[in-house]
Amino acid sequence: MKVQEFKLATPQEGMIDITAQVRQMLCDSGIYTGLCTVFCPHTTAAITTNENADPDVVSDFLLGLGKAYPDRPEFNHCEGNSAAHLKSSAIGCSQTFIIEEGRLMLGTWQGIYFCEFDGPRSRRFLVKIMDGNK
Ligand code: ZN
Repeated sequence: MKVQEFKLATPQEGMIDITAQVRQMLCDSGIYTGLCTVFCPHTTAAITTNENADPDVVSDFLLGLGKAYPDRPEFNHCEGNSAAHLKSSAIGCSQTFIIEEGRLMLGTWQGIYFCEFDGPRSRRFLVKIMDGNK
């Protein structure tokens, strides 16, 4: 199946739940078994999977990342967003999911997030679904 691109407008920092968009693309594809990769083509954003039930998890996640990767006066990068670059690589630019019986095999409390570390910006993410029956 052809790769699909999704656009989104992000806040300064945040985690946008994109699970519904990925599920809808899978549903539209009719693919019963396979793999689904979600990819972020940016260097100051990321893709992760985490709890989407309690919104405090998202705020704690961002707070913890901010403490782990603070902005430092010693950074030389002229854009001044080195902390965002570090967070992007720490979290990672893609996630792969198992598809079985036409469904994403996510855990009960798991959701897929687009993570913004240097917004607000116009962003995009890519989703590729591979049919396991071909
Ligand atoms: Zn930069």
